Amino acid sequence: MRYSAWKIFTEGLSGNRGWTKLWREPEPKPDYDIVIIGAGHGMAAAHYLAKTFGIRNVAVLEKGWLGSGNIGRNTTIIRSNYLLPENEPFYEFSLKLWEGLEQDVNFNAMVSQRGILNLCHSDPQRDAFARRGNAMKLAGADAVLLDQDRLRKMCPYLDFDNARFPIRGALWQPRGGTVRHDAVAWGYARSASSLGVDIIQNCEVTGFRIENGICRGVETTKGPIGARKVVACVAGSSGKLMSLAGMRLPIESHVLQAFVSEGLKPVLPGVITFGAGHFYVSQSDKGGLVFGGDIDGYNSYAQRGNLPVVEDVCEGGMAVMPFIGRARLLRMWGGLMDMSMDGSPFIDKTHIEGLYFNGGWCYGGFKATPASGYCTAHLLAKEEPHPTAAGFRLDRFRRGQVIDEKGAGAQPNLH
Ligand SMILES: Cc1cc2nc3c(=O)[nH]c(=O)nc-3n(C[C@H](O)[C@H](O)[C@H](O)COP(=O)(O)OP(=O)(O)OC[C@H]3O[C@@H](n4cnc5c(N)ncnc54)[C@H](O)[C@@H]3O)c2cc1C
Repeated sequence: MRYSAWKIFTEGLSGNRGWTKLWREPEPKPDYDIVIIGAGHGMAAAHYLAKTFGIRNVAVLEKGWLGSGNIGRNTTIIRSNYLLPENEPFYEFSLKLWEGLEQDVNFNAMVSQRGILNLCHSDPQRDAFARRGNAMKLAGADAVLLDQDRLRKMCPYLDFDNARFPIRGALWQPRGGTVRHDAVAWGYARSASSLGVDIIQNCEVTGFRIENGICRGVETTKGPIGARKVVACVAGSSGKLMSLAGMRLPIESHVLQAFVSEGLKPVLPGVITFGAGHFYVSQSDKGGLVFGGDIDGYNSYAQRGNLPVVEDVCEGGMAVMPFIGRARLLRMWGGLMDMSMDGSPFIDKTHIEGLYFNGGWCYGGFKATPASGYCTAHLLAKEEPHPTAAGFRLDRFRRGQVIDEKGAGAQPNLH
């Protein structure tokens, strides 16, 4: 079924009886060409496999419900404001895919390019932002360096002068913004399912069928499923899952929390990030301030957070915009992050033939969803990395070619 204004009109006249379910719920078949584990980036990969590469005998296995992972838990920010040549073209590719996503999957994901402002608080930081803005422009992205006067006109309520970290200006990416996160999962699922992909919810992968070094399928809570190729896209569960194939990964699992305030009148022009601490905020279309900060900082598989980080994140908010202290916190939740040692992701084959890996997305994997799905589909279909994801290899630490965007060193909790 194609969604359109005409469809809404005709359904309105006929009692809305013609709407069908967004995706089919089939029983798993015994064999597939490709089995994808995890329905976040995995759902996007299924869509591009079916639509762009014509591979439709595909199953997506999800241990919970669609959208129960980080794809439905994040703070919805999209952007492509990276510095390093291994990252910037990939995230810009993703932003371009976001710009055409709703037409591609024929689903309203509320893609809103309301802009992102990275605040700077010192002259050296402004220099670093100028360098980053130039790198973005060289990769075809948009970037504007704002001085304090221009920023004041956009956000007069920021704590410019009295704060511990006075605000000097900002790096602005007007094409950045927000997207309704769970609608992304639903849109990709609807499209993939209509092209023949089987989405199997409540189906946990509990083992791999590996014979003579070749992966032939998976064991699941719904029985064994055969496959020519298997790809794991399970975020914070990566270490646990890949250990079933005998692999150790350069990834740690950490909790990251998100927060939403009560609804306020429109006040934020777009996304704002604090440059002297870790705090980022946008405003949802319902008016709630949606914000977050650091990971909880210890290894965990819990999808809930702890109070010290709540305090820390709220302090970050107060340091940037003191008015936030008057808003009441409405909701908070946690997600299971796959923090890599250099803060950058992996889209690669493993040493086991037929077994592929996607993970290590750290704080920033939501904005990567379209490109990650596309590049994973490209790797599975063509057996070679997409040019924009060529650096995201599992052996990069052995080769000494780390992608340390922040220059923070080999500690997952710092990225
Ligand atoms: C609070 C929070 C805020 C964030 N904010 C942003 C943001 O503003 N912008 C941004 O770009 N990124 C953000 N992120 C990061 C982003 O959400 C993630 O990096 C991204 O969604 C990861 O996608 P994924 O597909 O790897 O993981 P997920 O979406 O988590 O998908 C993995 C799926 O695998 C399933 N799974 C796990 N084990 C198994 C198994 N054994 N068998 C079957 N299924 C399994 C899980 O149930 C899960 O649904 C945020 C994350 C969190 C937690």
